[in-house]
Amino acid sequence: MRLIRDIYRECRTAGRLAVSFEFFTPKTPEGDRALAERTIPALFAARPDYCSVTYGAGGSTRDKTLSIVDRIQRERGVTGMAHLTCVGATREQVREIVEQARGLNIRNLLALRGDPPEGSGEFKPAEGGFAYAHQLVSLIRETGGFSIGVAGFPEGHVACREGKHADWQRLKEKIDCGADFVLTQLFFDNADFLEFRDHLTRRLGVSVPIVPGILPILSGRQVKKFTELCGARLPAAFRQKLDELGEDDQAVKQFGIDYAARQCEELRRSGAPGFHFYTLNKARSTLAILKHLGLGGASPGGPA
Ligand SMILES: Cc1cc2nc3c(=O)[nH]c(=O)nc-3n(C[C@H](O)[C@H](O)[C@H](O)COP(=O)(O)OP(=O)(O)OC[C@H]3O[C@@H](n4cnc5c(N)ncnc54)[C@H](O)[C@@H]3O)c2cc1C
Repeated sequence: MRLIRDIYRECRTAGRLAVSFEFFTPKTPEGDRALAERTIPALFAARPDYCSVTYGAGGSTRDKTLSIVDRIQRERGVTGMAHLTCVGATREQVREIVEQARGLNIRNLLALRGDPPEGSGEFKPAEGGFAYAHQLVSLIRETGGFSIGVAGFPEGHVACREGKHADWQRLKEKIDCGADFVLTQLFFDNADFLEFRDHLTRRLGVSVPIVPGILPILSGRQVKKFTELCGARLPAAFRQKLDELGEDDQAVKQFGIDYAARQCEELRRSGAPGFHFYTLNKARSTLAILKHLGLGGASPGGPA
């Protein structure tokens, strides 16, 4: 399977955007079936450059994450990436997971610290484990053979008390430890992304691809919950529109498609290397956005 750093390089040379999809690991057998039988077939008609699969809280989905990535690669022939966090694992356990990924020909890893379990306050590393994602990046780089992605936060990480510039300096450390590309947290104001990207590239000399993470919103309640958790800001006009649409999820979805399409248009003009879609394991909105942008072979007809 291909290395994602090569995918971004080839896309840049060819003058096209790299499109990637993120899936979360379903918690139920119905969720597994819906992902495998409906969402993935529908979305793969858009010919993504790669797909990634999240790593559940506390490492709870370790085997499932790897198994979904493995199936995507073997059954669909699409490059996959497994997310990996430091939560609840010793250095040796993390190394084992990295080797397990290698054994499955998974050659791309998103190296994350992870979040503390809900309600438990500050992140505490496991005994003999890592406190920060840059340590995980270094371990993966030492073992060799992987392309490594890391998370970036256009508004600064929610728990960084020293402010966004300090957080962005730490992102630079992750890149210096060997990360090949950055996928950003969701954001709704492109000005935040552009300030973040310009700070990293012009002030800190970062040259790896910095890829905007795009969330096609599916319901007002859901986006408010997500943004509360991750600290992303809802611009006033955006929030007002959500309030107006209330519980009308169909109208919210359409608003989400239009908003994300406009966001992506502007990001494309500003030179974004690609888009990483938080699909929430649904196909329709992401396909509609891609169709609007003229990317992939998307047809937003039937699937949920
Ligand atoms: C694209 C994307 C995908 C994600 N996928 C998942 C997933 O699959 N599973 C999951 O559980 N979570 C996921 N997350 C969430 C992520 O785990 C959390 O946001 C987590 O709180 C931070 O992870 P990080 O890798 O950025 O950590 P780090 O880079 O380690 O940063 C964490 C905090 O520590 C601070 N910090 C970093 N280095 C230092 C240092 N040397 N000294 C002092 N402070 C420091 C940072 O400023 C920040 O506040 C994802 C996030 C994104 C953007």
